[in-house]
Amino acid sequence: MTDCIFCRIINGEIPSKNIYEDPEILVFHDIRPLAPTHFLILPKKHIESLATCEESSESLLGRMLLLAPKLAFEQGLKGFRTMINTGSEGGQEVFHLHIHVFGGAKTLPKT
Ligand code: 5GP
Ligand code: ZN
Repeated sequence: MTDCIFCRIINGEIPSKNIYEDPEILVFHDIRPLAPTHFLILPKKHIESLATCEESSESLLGRMLLLAPKLAFEQGLKGFRTMINTGSEGGQEVFHLHIHVFGGAKTLPKT
């Protein structure tokens, strides 16, 4: 048991609307979308934030980032915004690293 909500989603304890999965990465739609399309790219391994990533995570981070355009275009977007909140002062609420991808609106959220 873990109290990390994203680990619980990865373990299948909480449902999610997944759009991509591989052995290292899971991508699902945000439960409270801030844009018409809003999904989250996260490592299956629990990493608290970008600030706690080690050099050994370099290729994982690269793979996560490269999925953003691939999945955004598959979702029909022509452009998108990415965001990584880091630490509570950086607006992070779920302490399991994730990349937000927003799109589908001319006015995108500023937060
Ligand atoms: P943060 O503020 O940590 O960068 O973003 C956390 C995001 O996770 C928020 O946009 C929030 O809506 C989303 N979120 C929180 N709990 C759940 C959940 O149980 N399922 C899904 N799909 N998204 C969640
Ligand atoms: Zn976790």
